[in-house]
Formats: sequence, C-alpha cells, structure tokens
Amino acid sequence: MKSIVVIGSGLSGLVLVSSLLEKENEASSILLIEKNPEQLGKGIAYKSEFELQPLNVRAGRMSIYQHHPNHFIQWIRDNYNYRDSGYTEHSFVPRSIYGEYLKSNLDNLSATYSTRFQIVLGEVARLEKSDDKWNVILRNEKEIIADQVVLAPGNFPPPDLSAAHPEIRKHPKYFPLPWQNGILASIPKDKTVLFVGMGLSTIDHLITLNKNKHTGKIIAISRNGLLPLTHKLTGAFVPNKDELLNGCETPIGFLKFLREKTNTHPNLHWSAIIDGIRPYQNQIWANWSIDQKKQFHRHIRPFWEIHRHRIPEESSELIKKLIENGQLSIRAGRIKGISLTRSDEFILSYLDKKSGNLSAVTTDYIVNCTGSQSDFRKIDSPLIKQLLSDGHVVLNDLQMGILTDESGRLIDNKGNSQPNLFTLGPTRKGQLWESVALNEIRQQAENISNQII
Ligand SMILES: Cc1cc2nc3c(=O)[nH]c(=O)nc-3n(C[C@H](O)[C@H](O)[C@H](O)COP(=O)(O)OP(=O)(O)OC[C@H]3O[C@@H](n4cnc5c(N)ncnc54)[C@H](O)[C@@H]3O)c2cc1C
Repeated sequence: MKSIVVIGSGLSGLVLVSSLLEKENEASSILLIEKNPEQLGKGIAYKSEFELQPLNVRAGRMSIYQHHPNHFIQWIRDNYNYRDSGYTEHSFVPRSIYGEYLKSNLDNLSATYSTRFQIVLGEVARLEKSDDKWNVILRNEKEIIADQVVLAPGNFPPPDLSAAHPEIRKHPKYFPLPWQNGILASIPKDKTVLFVGMGLSTIDHLITLNKNKHTGKIIAISRNGLLPLTHKLTGAFVPNKDELLNGCETPIGFLKFLREKTNTHPNLHWSAIIDGIRPYQNQIWANWSIDQKKQFHRHIRPFWEIHRHRIPEESSELIKKLIENGQLSIRAGRIKGISLTRSDEFILSYLDKKSGNLSAVTTDYIVNCTGSQSDFRKIDSPLIKQLLSDGHVVLNDLQMGILTDESGRLIDNKGNSQPNLFTLGPTRKGQLWESVALNEIRQQAENISNQII
C-alpha cells in the first residue's frame, strides 16, 4: 500500500486530503500530521477565537470542493438556521464558522475513510531520504516511512521588527505574533495600541477592539499608510486571454491594462476588472523577468494589495468611524527605531513619508501585523531549517517562499525536481503571484492529488 504523509492540517492540508481521498484509491493510506491540536483542520486563519472577524471572501466562493461550489453554503444551511442567521452566498461569514466547517469536513473524512486515513498530532522535525522513500521524523522521535510527502506548513510568524531591540521584542506589551490567542483581551481598554502594518490582520484587531469597547487611542502605521479597499457587488469582467497576456507583458503594461479596462467599462466597479484577471495572474507573473517581479514588489505591490485583498463594507464603515471620531490615526512612513521610556511606554520613531521628517509616536502596546515571514532562511522551524541545510529545499529567485516545479514538486539544491516531495499554499508565494487564497489552494491540491494517486 502506498503511504502518503501530509504535514500541516490547515486549509491547504485539509483540501489536499479531501482531494486525495475523493480519488478513491484503496491502494493508498494517508496520514495528516498537525503540531497544534487547536488548529487541527483549521490552521491559523480559521481558529475558533476568530468569531468576530469575517471572511474576506463571500461565502458562495468558499467551498473546499472545486466541483461543488455550493458545498459551504449547503453546510451553513444544514448546520445554522439559514434564514435566522441571514447568511447567503453573498455574506461575509465569521471566520470561526468557516473553521467549524473545515473541522466538520475533517471529522467526516476521518469517519468515512477510517481504514486508510489517520490523523497524527505532533511536530515533524526532520525528513530524511531513504532510497526512494522519505523517513518522516517527529519531534517525539516517532518515525514514519512515506512514499509521498506533501508539505503544507502554511503561514509563519511575521518577521521581527528590526527597529525593535531584542529586549523590546521580549517585552510583555509587545506582541510579535498577530494571530496569538486572545492577545487583545489582556490590553486595558484605555491604553494606546499601535499596529505595525495595515493589512487584514490589523483590520481583524480593530474589529475586536471595537467590540471590546476599547476607548484608548489606536495607531496604525505602514510604509504607505494605505488601507484595504471595500468589496462591492458588481457584474463580471471576462477578459480576452490573448489581449490580456499580450498587454500585461510588463508590470507597467499590466497597470495600463487595468486602467484602460476600468475606463472602458464604466458600468462595472473596478474590482470586477481585478477579479476577472485573477485566473491569469500566475501566467502573467511567470512571463515576467526577475527584475520585473522585483519592480512590481518595490513599486506596485502596496497599491495592488489594497485593491486585491478587499474587506467587507461593514469593516470599512467601522474604520471610517474610528478615523472620524479621532480614535484611530493612520501614519505612513518607515520605522527607524523603537525605544522604551521609564514609565514603560514605547516610543516609535519613523521617517514620515509625506514630509520626509523624523516623527515619533508614543504607545502602550505594539502588535506586529506585518504579515507572514516568507524568507525561509529566517523561519524558526526545525523542519524548514533541516530541509534547507540538507538541500531538499531551496529558495526561489525572489527569496520569498521555496522553489517548486509547475506541479508543486520541490526542487533540490542540485536543481532536480523531487518526484515524491510536494508543497502547496503559502510556501509557493513569490514563485506564484497568487498562492495563498482558497481558490489557488484548491487548484494546487487537485493538481498534486492527480499526480500522487
Ligand atoms: C488571518 C487570516 C485571514 C485570512 N482570511 C482569508 C479569507 O477570508 N479567504 C481566503 O481565501 N483566504 C484567507 N486567508 C488566507 C490563508 O492563508 C489561507 O486561507 C490558509 O490559512 C492557508 O492555509 P495553510 O494550511 O496553508 O496554512 P496554515 O493555516 O498556516 O496551516 C498550516 C498548519 O501546519 C501546521 N504545521 C506547520 N509546520 C508543521 C510541522 N513541522 N509539523 C506539523 N504541523 C505543522 C501548523 O500548526 C498549521 O496548523 C487568511 C489568512 C490569514 C492569516
């Protein structure tokens, strides 16, 4: 019997296992290994404490099954009082409910395929090659021999704020990890909180602070001071593939294409144009040179991110209200230093983007929301360190994520595609433009399972 080991049981691990088991090959057994029992089947983004935070994608687009798009909606119908809850396919459902959906699917798979699917709780610390198999070694020394291994380790803690002295990084009022359990509950309501980064994790925390009736000042700082834009229901834009790929041969061409299509489709909201090109983004990306990709990251990415990763109208309204009533202030600039006063307050100094002057803000708490670390040399995971040092894994050209071939097989330090070592999801960020959201995870999982089974 062929043995398949999947490391990590977040969305990527779960979607892959569902796809593998659906292939109904009795000749294979599957082990799903998860180091954090609380995240079993849910991963970081959909843990139960995210009961206030909405998905950033409408429910109708969040089925884990590509061929059954209404699967999540159907699950809500069956498990929540659909009419009373008011959830429809257009709703932004709380992420904790989505986590329940993921976990209930994992439980169903365990029950249905109990003879050939098992879950193991523990951390994989090493992968050693043994002829044409892998020896999967857990932290507790348990060893598992696998014919095929898929890495789905997901999101890693954000990079440390280099401006913060190591002493500050250990300070109890400095939170290095935005997704930690209940961090905001420990903050007194009248204290000032500063978020570094203005992406979706900061929005999550603003929602929580508001629900907690926080009265203290809130500051958010990022290099550009740009907040995510709002989802709107709009018609669909279907691009002409040839025109799109020819027009987007360079990052500048890509911007021109977006502008031109937005102008020539006044009846559509701009977000329809962004969503319409999404299926081709990875193809556009693959056609760009390394220098063009770097150019995109340096100059265009912050603007792209706020258009692409949008938030529900309700979240936008809340931010508007917090800014208007003076509780939330937004800063744009490059952080230069963080120090601590005798009265235990942080002083964060930054080079203001607009004025070019050195400015400073004082705060009681700092939360690092700069996004998951994607430079694998800096990731604090025994498994990743070992895979890099043994040459089973190498960085991609942008040094964001790891190098794979088109099918998701990892490429080793000799440039060979390894026939029985795959990865999917956030680990392919950088090599692919889009690799983190459900849509791409589903496609990658389907692709890998077709090759394994
Ligand atoms: C806060 C947040 C909100 C998001 N909201 C949305 C959204 O609304 N819609 C959308 O489409 N996308 C959203 N995303 C994108 C998100 O990245 C993906 O949807 C998803 O979380 C990726 O799943 P994953 O399984 O790859 O990673 P993770 O969720 O990080 O899961 C990886 C799992 O692997 C385990 N693991 C790691 N290393 C080991 C090891 N060595 N041994 C054993 N286990 C290990 C970890 O404990 C973890 O549970 C959001 C992301 C975040 C962070």
